[in-house]
Amino acid sequence: MDDCIFCKIVKKEVPAEFVYEDEKIVAFKDINPEAPVHLLIIPKEHYSSIKEIGREDGILLEDIFDTINQLAKEMDVYEDGYRIVNNCGDDGGQTVQHLHFHLLAGRQMQWPPG
Ligand code: AMP
Ligand code: ZN
Repeated sequence: MDDCIFCKIVKKEVPAEFVYEDEKIVAFKDINPEAPVHLLIIPKEHYSSIKEIGREDGILLEDIFDTINQLAKEMDVYEDGYRIVNNCGDDGGQTVQHLHFHLLAGRQMQWPPG
């Protein structure tokens, strides 16, 4: 995906503050943080949204959620709690069309979201 900003981050063509990388996943700081801890966890492979994830991708999601839990420990928010968000489509508030999960923490989250 040549014009995808997150693919460019994966390829290091666009700078980002990486906090984790392995063969399938990267995590980096959100450029416009909504909380003291605001990370984006993404697959290196381009999926436009969660809609493109099927049962065959189960291991990838396991790895992503395991990474999120590990990052919460590293960021020292594991005990206090955190929020994992995936926005999908226009009404879901998705603005970047490369599957990503937000890890938000470090303050009391509100519910319901706006
Ligand atoms: P969403 O609205 O769920 O699609 O979230 C996209 C997120 O990506 C937003 O929170 C943006 O602040 C963040 N974002 C967009 N461009 C960048 C970038 N170049 N580096 C880091 N975060 C970004
Ligand atoms: Zn992409």
